Amino acid sequence: MDIAANIAQIQQRIQAVCQGCGRDPGEVRLVAVSKKKPATDIEAAIAAGQTLLGESYVQECAAKINEVKAVAEWHFIGALQSNKVKYLRGKVDMIHSVDRFSLAEEINRQWGKDNACIDILLQVNLGEEASKSGTTANKLTDLARQVSQLEHVRIKGLMALPPWDADLEEVRPYFRQLRELAVQIAALELPNVTMQELSMGMSHDFEVAIEEGATLIRVGTAIFGTR
Ligand SMILES: *Cc1c(COP(=O)(O)O)cnc(C)c1O
Repeated sequence: MDIAANIAQIQQRIQAVCQGCGRDPGEVRLVAVSKKKPATDIEAAIAAGQTLLGESYVQECAAKINEVKAVAEWHFIGALQSNKVKYLRGKVDMIHSVDRFSLAEEINRQWGKDNACIDILLQVNLGEEASKSGTTANKLTDLARQVSQLEHVRIKGLMALPPWDADLEEVRPYFRQLRELAVQIAALELPNVTMQELSMGMSHDFEVAIEEGATLIRVGTAIFGTR
C-alpha cells in the first residue's frame, strides 16, 4: 500500500472535480480515516503532508493520538457514547458525530473542565437507517437550538453518512439534502452556530459529495487500503 501515492491521487481527483464544478479546491479538506490502521500508516500519511486524520473508535483514537508524535489535527467521526467523551477531551479538534443533546451536554462538560471550546458537527441520519447514528432532519432544528446554548461547544456544520448505493446518482440527493438543511439552520442565525462545514463523502462517493458542496470528505479505504 503506497499511502503517499494514494493521497496524491486523491488530491488530484479533488482538484479535477473542483475544476469541473467551479469550486475552489482550498474549500475541500481531506480527512484521512485511519481507523483499524496502525500508527505507522498514520505517520506515513503525515510524512506525505496529510495532517488531518479521522478516527471512529474512542479508545483506539485516544491511544493513537498518544502514539503518533508528529503534529496532526484529529477529528472524531464515529458513533460516540457519552461515558466515553472523557477519553477525547483535549485530544481531538473536532467531533463530527453529535446527534443528541445529552451527548452535546457531556462534551460541553468535559471541555468546560479546561475552559476550552470544541468544534462539532451535527450528524443527520438522512436515510433514517436503524443501523446508523444521527438525528433526523425533522429534529435537527430543535437540536441545533439546544446545542447553541452550550458555552464550550461551537456548531460548525453538518455531517452525514447516506445509505450506500453503487449508483452514485442515488446518493447525490442525500448530499444535496444535507446542504439544504445547512442553509435552513444558517437562516436561524443561532449564537455559536455557523454552517461553514459539510462533512460528507467517503472513498466511493467523495466526488459527488464535492459537487454537492462538501467541505470535509472522509476517506479511509482509498488511502490506507481495505480494513
Ligand atoms: C470508516 C468511515 C469512513 C471512511 O470510509 P471509506 O469507505 O473507507 O472511505 C468515513 N466516515 C465514517 C463515519 C467512517 O466510519
